[in-house]
Amino acid sequence: MGILFKAAYFGGLIVEVIMRIPYDRHQREAKKIKQWAPVSEPVVNAGLSIGMGLLPLIYSLTPWLGFADYPFAEPARRWMGFVGLAILAAAVWLFWRSHSDLGKNWSPSLEISSEHQLVTCGIYSSVRHPMYTSQLLWGMAQALLMHNWLAGMGGLMAFGLLYFLRIPKEEQMMLQHFGDEYRAYCEQTNRIVPTL
Ligand code: SAH
Repeated sequence: MGILFKAAYFGGLIVEVIMRIPYDRHQREAKKIKQWAPVSEPVVNAGLSIGMGLLPLIYSLTPWLGFADYPFAEPARRWMGFVGLAILAAAVWLFWRSHSDLGKNWSPSLEISSEHQLVTCGIYSSVRHPMYTSQLLWGMAQALLMHNWLAGMGGLMAFGLLYFLRIPKEEQMMLQHFGDEYRAYCEQTNRIVPTL
């Protein structure tokens, strides 16, 4: 069963990478008027690559992380895996939905383009950082699908970096550019937990 959960994990990762291709192409062509590169950004990006990619890959392809395997018995692992699959599906859906609503305003790093518009509709009307909410769901799914303390916790660790290092800088940049419009938007929404 474990192999199925690992395969679903990497399947989800491939789907997300493919989903991002058109947005990535567009943002490469867009004219940037502001680019923020705080020293924390390489740490965040390394955390995402190691936590979501490298550790799950090492765990799935080698026995090297065996010393950190969960001590749970097979029936418990099976249930964890099934719950993990449901949460993974929710994470991928939210990842798609937030890219679709953010459209050409999406960028992989902290940037403002010449045609940038503040998006406050769609999923962005109920939460300010739905893509990072999707990362939180992904981290929970990963912990349930990868039955190992190191490979399983990588996604939650990456979320922690996004939450504590990226979001404060991103909001600072948005406030500086959009001013009162962004301030009012912040008053109506939470960062990660959607409001009804
Ligand atoms: N933090 C958001 C977006 C991540 S992509 C989320 O989790 O869904 C990062 C880029 O999105 C940033 O460089 C910023 O320019 C842009 N951005 C973030 N929130 C935005 C919004 N509400 N409207 C328009 N652009 C936004």
